[in-house]
Amino acid sequence: MSFEPDVCGCPRPLLRRCLAAENLHGVGQRVMACMSCGASAAVRDRLEDIPDDERGCQRVVGVDTVPLSAAVLAWLSSWPRLVPPSAGEFWDANHSTFLPASLRVADEAELAQLEQQAKDQRLAKYEARLRAAGVPAEPPPPGTEALFSFVVRAWQTLQLPPDTEPEVLLGRMKGLNEPSAWIAAGRLPPRAELAHELAELLARPSDTERDLALWNLESLRSTPLGALQLPDPLLAAFANLLRSLAGEEKIRERRLVLRWLQQPRDEPDRLALRQRLGADADALFDTDPFAPHRAGKPFR
Ligand SMILES: [Zn+2]
Repeated sequence: MSFEPDVCGCPRPLLRRCLAAENLHGVGQRVMACMSCGASAAVRDRLEDIPDDERGCQRVVGVDTVPLSAAVLAWLSSWPRLVPPSAGEFWDANHSTFLPASLRVADEAELAQLEQQAKDQRLAKYEARLRAAGVPAEPPPPGTEALFSFVVRAWQTLQLPPDTEPEVLLGRMKGLNEPSAWIAAGRLPPRAELAHELAELLARPSDTERDLALWNLESLRSTPLGALQLPDPLLAAFANLLRSLAGEEKIRERRLVLRWLQQPRDEPDRLALRQRLGADADALFDTDPFAPHRAGKPFR
């Protein structure tokens, strides 16, 4: 259950959320704006422990105003309004549609009609939808980042030039659950090209860069590549990474890689994959991610 703040004297169903990150838990702060008079406020859910709940769960019992300077609130309020998703949808890259911040409606019926139109005209990419509704040109005022860092990151990502290196874009995709990540993901080159980029990152000796590449691969799993379709460079990078991890307690890394190499079910396909992997394919697949744990070593 979520509560709506008292932003102005207009009916509360006219309140809409300004740019939001994916928020599956209903917590966190948000800027709510009135689609009729234009007033806005930054609020956060007020949480309370559920009495006698052994898991320590909390429930939302109201909303509190988040104190912001007038400049910060004005800047946050200049982002497009989110059209509420349909049942079963979330604010993600696929389902986010917007209305301009400058739009004013007379009543709920007009708002419903405009929102339906916005959904019907859904442009292909998240960034295009966001830009079509209008994004602020000015940088965030000082003090924005402390509480609304995801909006600052979205603005910064929008400023990246069109020829930004895929490596930089991949670096912004961590988690893939906020606008900056969705903008970056939408700008990535075709997958074949990306395979080279990721393969190169996987081959780096730096743990940080390698982890970032693996993490990004996880983010891209919503459009998974079957083991047989994996481009050669990526397959080779996976095999090399498994070889280099042999004997190390990098369980998480190994497991991520093996997930991408999950063996095809049919025997001919299995053989084809093993051939592509090379002479030590059997050894690579026999890497048991749980072996060090069973041997009594710390689980990482
Ligand atoms: Zn109002």
